Amino acid sequence: MLIYGKDIREQIKERVRQTAIEVKMGLAIIRVGDDPSSLAYVRGIRKFAEETGVKAEIVNLPDSVGERELLNTIGDLNNNSVITGIMLQTPLPAGLNASRLINAIDFDKDVEGIHNYNLGKLISKEEGVRPCTPKAVISMLKAHDIPIEGQKVTIIGRSMTVGSPLALMMTAENATVTVCHTRTRKLKEEALRADILVAAVGKREFVTADMVHKDMVVIDVGINFDENGKMLGDVHEEAWNHCRVASAVPGGIGVITVAELFDNLRILSQKA
Ligand code: NAP
Repeated sequence: MLIYGKDIREQIKERVRQTAIEVKMGLAIIRVGDDPSSLAYVRGIRKFAEETGVKAEIVNLPDSVGERELLNTIGDLNNNSVITGIMLQTPLPAGLNASRLINAIDFDKDVEGIHNYNLGKLISKEEGVRPCTPKAVISMLKAHDIPIEGQKVTIIGRSMTVGSPLALMMTAENATVTVCHTRTRKLKEEALRADILVAAVGKREFVTADMVHKDMVVIDVGINFDENGKMLGDVHEEAWNHCRVASAVPGGIGVITVAELFDNLRILSQKA
């Protein structure tokens, strides 16, 4: 069975729309350079903002921008009372230190939940904003009544924005978690042990039918494109028929992620 994210997105959208009526919500997105895939993401954010009545401001900066200028831009947005959430689009051009810049964002405006302060809160299981894509994965499972507690969860990928925070969030949900990466030996065996397999690899059709089993739930975080521009996940379509549940690409985790960004903005704006 394939599962989709549209209904979850709509529910979150309604919650954000209601909050935007009562509370001041303003999102600032800092874009450096002209990467087309980041432009598509910004378009999605703009549309969501329009549909929810949230103010969204895009700050476009050239590839040549220096770190000092970026830090000044972030500082200005930190001090701008209209802005309740700030996002710095990554990847950044070579020479800019993404970690230093992200941590220059006021942690109370860290709409992506990736400031060290908010990641610390995640580790210590304190309430707060959580990274958007892992949040989307948890929302997808819960909305489809798929239990997490006590389940064996294998995550392929350990990035700072997806795999690693997801491992912590799954542990907080009382799953038993295995994290796989490029140095993992016998990846197929690790995958087959899972009740829930999450693919966050960034390689199209990486998870093949022989890596899943008939009782498995497979969540595909991947967004990749073939030579014709068709969107493909990290899971091969053939695997969909060999497992119990699989999340669709397109239309799965990707459509929830932008909504989770606005859900974080809602949380931050209510606190502001
Ligand atoms: P990333 O930073 O490139 O991390 C990829 C991870 O996969 C790394 O931990 C890497 O291991 C691991 N990996 C790569 N090749 C592997 C292999 N052959 N065997 C085992 N592990 C391997 O990517 P990311 O930012 O986490 O994104 C992952 C995917 O999710 C991408 O397709 C991205 O476009 C997509 N994404 C989707 C959303 C959404 O909203 N749906 C949001 C963000 C990202 P090492 O650590 O050892 O290098």
